[in-house]
Amino acid sequence: MARKSDDHLSATRSFKFNTRLKPLFAREDLPERWLDSPIEEFIAAHNFEKPVEEGTTPKLLVVSCIEFRFMPQIPRNFAYMIRTAGGRITQIPGSEFALAYILANGVRHIVTVGHNDCGMTKVEAFKPRLVEALAEQGWEQDHAKNFVEAHADRFAIDDEIDALESEYVRMRSLFQKVEIAPLFVSLSSSRLHLPSWFEKYK
Ligand SMILES: [Zn+2]
Repeated sequence: MARKSDDHLSATRSFKFNTRLKPLFAREDLPERWLDSPIEEFIAAHNFEKPVEEGTTPKLLVVSCIEFRFMPQIPRNFAYMIRTAGGRITQIPGSEFALAYILANGVRHIVTVGHNDCGMTKVEAFKPRLVEALAEQGWEQDHAKNFVEAHADRFAIDDEIDALESEYVRMRSLFQKVEIAPLFVSLSSSRLHLPSWFEKYK
């Protein structure tokens, strides 16, 4: 699990003022190898008011959190999408199966999108409500409690930007011949940013 430190502000607590994200105002702000790729198309749709044109074959995989305040601005026939609580597919056993399917269909570009104010940073406090939600569906109280305890750590994160980094590192080691773009969306503006930590992986 990502470690908290005092020298930076959590994305949950302070999005606007932190220096841990780089805005993407123009295509010059993108890493060169993303230019003229489906990753540029995805970013341009969110940040440069340039909608993706609907195609006929899948070009991209979009991985993101289930968060309802984020909706990728893409047309159909452009991308596969995997959404999980926290958006970290390497934490879900067997998720490589879906990845294999997507790769087998020719996709070679992935964007993994983190966001501020993620509910997965508040899992510990939310546990009683999760248990209650399952109990309401007919689960035995003890079974529901054990289930939530058993799975909470897989989904819980301390900090959204650090969690995106560890996920990016794991994805890179699992899928070495695809281009993976870690991006961070501001829920208030729907604009994408580049995490500052990405500099060291360029
Ligand atoms: Zn989230």
